[in-house]
Amino acid sequence: MRPLTEHDIRTSFINCSKGEAKRAELPRDLADLPWDDLDFLGWRDPGAPERAYLVAGGDGPLVGVALRVTSGAARAFTSRSMCSLCLTTHTSGGVALMTARRTGEPGRQGNTVGQYMCADLACPLYLRGKRQAAGAGVVEESLTLEEKLARTHANVRAFLDKVAA
Ligand SMILES: [Zn+2]
Repeated sequence: MRPLTEHDIRTSFINCSKGEAKRAELPRDLADLPWDDLDFLGWRDPGAPERAYLVAGGDGPLVGVALRVTSGAARAFTSRSMCSLCLTTHTSGGVALMTARRTGEPGRQGNTVGQYMCADLACPLYLRGKRQAAGAGVVEESLTLEEKLARTHANVRAFLDKVAA
């Protein structure tokens, strides 16, 4: 994706207040992120581990969502769990349940959408082999990288559509 600026990111959020968007802790050294390897930008708030953010776009308008990280959810699985976006399997703790408040009236009523995701939201890096999942890894598949990226893109879009629906 194209390199994003702080302004791009703060104005992309669809499911939090302007104040929350303004206060969100952004990744440090934005200019130095490996943008060529990122299909979306996801990060955990370094100062508040229960907060995470995901910003996607590129071919269309940017869409950012604020996420709540539910810790301990991975305990429901015996030993491994899978990210629902990129399908990378991790050992316990590498995947977390991320919930996003829905936009509009459903969100005001406390409606959320939750999905299991790589706990560090680095799906694009796992898919490209730039980051390794501890003890598990990407399931061997006959898909090409392009096909996996397209599938992940579709999964991210579907998630964002549910948030904004
Ligand atoms: Zn993932």
